[in-house]
Amino acid sequence: MSEIKDISLAPSGEMKMAWAKRYMPLLNSIEADFREKKPFAGLRMAICLHLEAKSAVLCRVMMAGGAEVYVCGSNPLSTQDDVVAALASSGAEVYATYGCTMEEYEHYIEMVLASRPNIIIDDGADLVSAIHARHPELISGIIGGCEETTTGIIRDKALEAAGMLGFPMICVNDAKCKHFFDNRYGTGQSVFDGVNRLTNLIVAGKEVVVAGYGWCGRGVAMRAKGLGARVSVTEIDPVKALEAMMDGFEVKTMDEAAPTGDLFITETGCCDVITERHFRKMKDGAILCNGGHFDVEIDVKWLEENAVSTCPGRNELTKGYTLEGGKTIFILSEGRLVNLASGDGHPVEIMDMSFAIQALGAQYVALNRGKLEIKCHDIPAKVDNDVAARKLASCGMKVDKLTEKQEEYLKSWEL
Ligand code: NAD
Ligand code: SAH
Repeated sequence: MSEIKDISLAPSGEMKMAWAKRYMPLLNSIEADFREKKPFAGLRMAICLHLEAKSAVLCRVMMAGGAEVYVCGSNPLSTQDDVVAALASSGAEVYATYGCTMEEYEHYIEMVLASRPNIIIDDGADLVSAIHARHPELISGIIGGCEETTTGIIRDKALEAAGMLGFPMICVNDAKCKHFFDNRYGTGQSVFDGVNRLTNLIVAGKEVVVAGYGWCGRGVAMRAKGLGARVSVTEIDPVKALEAMMDGFEVKTMDEAAPTGDLFITETGCCDVITERHFRKMKDGAILCNGGHFDVEIDVKWLEENAVSTCPGRNELTKGYTLEGGKTIFILSEGRLVNLASGDGHPVEIMDMSFAIQALGAQYVALNRGKLEIKCHDIPAKVDNDVAARKLASCGMKVDKLTEKQEEYLKSWEL
């Protein structure tokens, strides 16, 4: 039995899903294929994703492929109760409510794992961690799984390095059709969607400080520049810092950026990127948010425990913390992913590509049952290239084809 907020919200969720589906040509064609071939017939699938419309479309694609689907959210603030209701009324078992406590969040993961899944679809390794830490008895029944995001893969690889990984995992994030587009252009656009919805402030003319110049950070810095901001980048990797400099951005340490920045966006996947000593240096009214993993990049806990007072900002997800001396710093979305906690996450067309890789990755796991080595695997290059070709075709674009002479030329070493 699903555990959700209110099943009567389903019509609104269906509308959101129908809109998303209209712009998801890849998932639609995969759904048609799955409906015919039923790659997941007889298999139970545990899915932990941000439960908004695009993820719900993916869940239905998996169901069309014959999977029995058990779903929980991958962040307490990204669940949309109407979408969850729509999903639950169409045959999936769903355990998710918006704004759930961490205890409820853990409980929902437990409920999904109680299905004794055969395939795992994870976003941040919450399911994989729970299985290895608390439910090793499930491992023998699991064929394999797919991981959506950078930080999840770091965790899966840590399990592999410790010799503890119990089943093969496909690194969806490492597919070119995922991180080139989702992490860069998806995060670049959706972070500002979240920030704008919450603050209603102009970005032009502000100093935007982007922490981390990986795939997400590059996208956020690029879009901040496009919106007219003065952009500073902080990094720990000298090569990435140089790249940021050559891309036209100011490179600073967080200590240097703290006193001058107006809007801070963390995109590192690391903890303690902005802490007490930085808060103390910031301007009155500085705004801080996170687009990376979990709520550990900004030390919100310190602010909760040490601010002399707190105040609402423009809404309940724009919270002000007043420090000794009287200045107030605002944290968006409790320091959780601002694009998903205060928006709908990445745009539809981006998730069409990411979730096409997810669906085809899961099919690869199912079709290669018992044959895959127990380790972290890249998605086969053919699948990646096929997704790119199909996406390009759906946009009405073509690429040139090499002639035989060109192929020979590109293979030869003679002058
Ligand atoms: P990445 O590895 O490409 O980039 C991370 C960058 O942060 C690296 O360049 C690294 O050197 C830098 N870094 C690490 N610690 C740092 C620190 N303390 N200070 C400054 N820089 C630091 O990873 P990515 O793909 O860009 O993902 C970043 C995070 O965002 C991950 O946690 C990932 O799971 C998450 N993510 C979020 C979304 C979203 O929708 N918001 C989308 C994709 C990925
Ligand atoms: N549980 C972690 C998950 C990290 S989220 C946390 O809450 O911090 C990062 C992933 O969210 C990305 O890899 C991206 O693919 C995914 N994502 C972004 N927008 C999304 C959307 N609209 N729907 C579903 N997933 C989305």
